[in-house]
Amino acid sequence: MQLINAPLHKPSLRLAGLYLAIIMVISLFFSVNVYQLSLQEFQRGFGGVPTRILKAVPSQSTISILEQQLIEEHEARYALAKQRVLSRLILTNVLIFIGGGFLSYYLARRTLTPIEEAHEAQSQFTADASHELRTPIAAMQSETEVTLMDPELTLAKATVQLKSNLEELNKLTILTEGLLRLARLENNELYQEVVDLDSVVQQALDRTLPLAEKKHILLTSSGVEGLQVRGDALSLAEAMIIILDNAIKYSPQKTEITIARSQDQRSVTVAIKDQGVGIKATEQQHIFDRFYRADTARSKQQTTGYGLGLAIAKNIVDAHGGRIAVSSKPGQGSTFTIYLPVHH
Ligand code: ADP
Repeated sequence: MQLINAPLHKPSLRLAGLYLAIIMVISLFFSVNVYQLSLQEFQRGFGGVPTRILKAVPSQSTISILEQQLIEEHEARYALAKQRVLSRLILTNVLIFIGGGFLSYYLARRTLTPIEEAHEAQSQFTADASHELRTPIAAMQSETEVTLMDPELTLAKATVQLKSNLEELNKLTILTEGLLRLARLENNELYQEVVDLDSVVQQALDRTLPLAEKKHILLTSSGVEGLQVRGDALSLAEAMIIILDNAIKYSPQKTEITIARSQDQRSVTVAIKDQGVGIKATEQQHIFDRFYRADTARSKQQTTGYGLGLAIAKNIVDAHGGRIAVSSKPGQGSTFTIYLPVHH
């Protein structure tokens, strides 16, 4: 965290400097104008006084003394007023410089923090993806090397090796497909059409029923029919398949999974409820992160997932202007709810 933050401290200062420079240019521009305007006003104000008074005085000698005194007094007052305005303007600019400095730094941090977080998430993602890609490749490489060095290599041994390689390659395919899907979703490649929710749920059911049957899990669907949303039917089905797939994966045999559809004024809701292992409260906030796998013995045993499924599902729902939520209790099961904007 600290390492990634460090290089971004400099841009914050640079941006704050730029903001401050803009504030100071504006402030100085106004100050110079105010100063000039004040001088003009003073000159007009002070200039008028002696002539007015002198006109009212009868004797010539008295006039010249009075005139001299008035001019001196006028100049002294003029210099004092000038001095006051100047020092007030300098003080104001110093205060603006100090206040503006803090404000600029605060604004620069506010501007750069989301960029900083995105940068951090990107670095983390690249590191995780590289790690996940390296593991099967390293396994394949070392096993193949050992097999090739075996002087008594038989066809049977080579077949075993090739099968193992194929397994690793399958894992790589799943992983790269997941990564590609995420990348495409981030570029917003989604259709926009009126989608019939019943057919989306049916598609998801068709795809996951065989898996559920294998574990004697009862998969049922209920709720309001004929609901419509706007978006991409295939992607929405994909998000539901991911959630149903997990529900089956993390549920014991002979349990039940229900899909309930409902609608309120603002959203169409699909809630998928299982009676599985559940998710700890501390982990619930992370399960939608890319590459996150909850620390349960069960999920670590599963070798097919890379922790990308829920990240993909979330991206799909987000791209539809909806949101996805989870409520779960360890040992009692989980409910994943998809909220989508109503299509009028
Ligand atoms: P994975 O490929 O590991 O299933 P996901 O992104 O689909 O990746 O899920 C992330 C983690 O969330 C899983 O590793 C699992 O621990 C947890 N999880 C997801 N769905 C469920 C569920 N229905 N019941 C219990 N845990 C779940």
